[in-house]
Amino acid sequence: MELTILGAASHYPKPGAPCSGALLEHDGTAVLVDAGPGTLAELQRYRSPADLDAIWISHVHADHTADLLPLYYALRFGDLPERPPVPVLGPPDLRKRLVAFLGGGAEDGIDAAFAFTSLADRDARRIGAIDLTWRAVDHDVPAWALRAEAGAASIVVTGDAAPCTALQELAAGCDLLLAEAGAEREDAHPAHLTPEQAGALADTADASRLVLTHLALTLDPADAARRAATRYDGPVEVAVSGARVSVGLPTVEA
Ligand SMILES: [Zn+2]
Ligand SMILES: [Zn+2]
Repeated sequence: MELTILGAASHYPKPGAPCSGALLEHDGTAVLVDAGPGTLAELQRYRSPADLDAIWISHVHADHTADLLPLYYALRFGDLPERPPVPVLGPPDLRKRLVAFLGGGAEDGIDAAFAFTSLADRDARRIGAIDLTWRAVDHDVPAWALRAEAGAASIVVTGDAAPCTALQELAAGCDLLLAEAGAEREDAHPAHLTPEQAGALADTADASRLVLTHLALTLDPADAARRAATRYDGPVEVAVSGARVSVGLPTVEA
């Protein structure tokens, strides 16, 4: 299974650094995980939006969802090949929020672009060659974390989350943990993980490798990796847009 980082910035995108989004691929199946601002353009380096098999959205914060708005325009009115609605697995109020923002005929048109399924705790869905399972996690809005499995390979994406039992259970034994580090200190942003907490999660879960993403703006990437490594003996990297990681195969590209 291959993970491509489309964006890893927190709060707002910068040139060459979109907000949260990743592409999961295995054996021809493609799942977009979060659609932060900047990720729709980045996605097209690898795959047409018309060729997505599903979209999984962790929570409604704009840094994880904003590019669903232009993606709606692309699917409804763009120059893409016609296709059935893209399955969107996301928070229960995601459709309502998108329709409210889009206005116009979106109430009638959005179901032609997207086929919504509401996330609930401990649910699962097989998308082509990839099995997805998710858990509700602690954040300041309803939020979920994702585990993707294909063959013997497993990737866990925390989305935005504070430390919680659900994260530990979901991440148990995974090959790759893509963990947010949105808090420089525990008391500054309690709805997010600090680098140490991300490292501790990887350690408790016995993850094979840890990739930090969604770093607090005040965190230096090298320092964040060093802090995570104080709690975790495995390899620690920091996500950047364009990084591709193969899980279940020995190759890593950046
Ligand atoms: Zn976020
Ligand atoms: Zn958030």
